Amino acid sequence: MPQRPYVIDEMISAKQIAARIEELAAEIGREYADTNKLVVVGLLRGSFVFIADLVRELNLPVEVDFLEASSYGNSTESSREVRILKDLRGEIEGRDVLVVEDIVDTGYTLSHVRHLLSGRRPRKLKIIALLDKPARREVDIKADWIGFSIPDEFVVGYGIDFAQRNRNLPFIGKVRFTEDA
Ligand code: 5GP
Ligand code: MG
Ligand code: MG
Repeated sequence: MPQRPYVIDEMISAKQIAARIEELAAEIGREYADTNKLVVVGLLRGSFVFIADLVRELNLPVEVDFLEASSYGNSTESSREVRILKDLRGEIEGRDVLVVEDIVDTGYTLSHVRHLLSGRRPRKLKIIALLDKPARREVDIKADWIGFSIPDEFVVGYGIDFAQRNRNLPFIGKVRFTEDA
């Protein structure tokens, strides 16, 4: 598909992200101080950079697993279907679980994932999201930790894509379409 030309304006720098992750890791470390092994569950694909940086700041024994969910349908519909494209490899019953998401937008994805995982009876289930767009919420769900609350803008970088591009940017930026020549 031809892509309209666009530029990316930096919104959150790599330095700001790193500083925030240090703070979050300290809080998470206190929350899970008594764990014998935390299962950190990354939601593919957008959280892959965040989870990599986050686990390296955690001074805890961790296991890393991944889940891929995909939401379909029009965001204006009141009920959206969320499908699991790739499930966890490991069991989480009785375990301490931390779900790592890139962005909470309408909230459908996270609320579906939380429902699915809590049905497997973890000892503790918490959620961290790098970005939150509270203005877009349609489902009542809140992450336990948020990196940054942002306005309703389409963002890319630091693992987050625009049509599978720009995941490798070290910062978070917003997409701005430029005039066609
Ligand atoms: P929701 O909360 O609506 O179920 O969906 C959240 C997912 O939509 C996020 O995990 C992310 O994959 C995608 N998403 C939401 N906002 C943005 C955005 O600004 N940029 C990109 N690339 N994806 C987004
Ligand atoms: Mg996502
Ligand atoms: Mg995406």
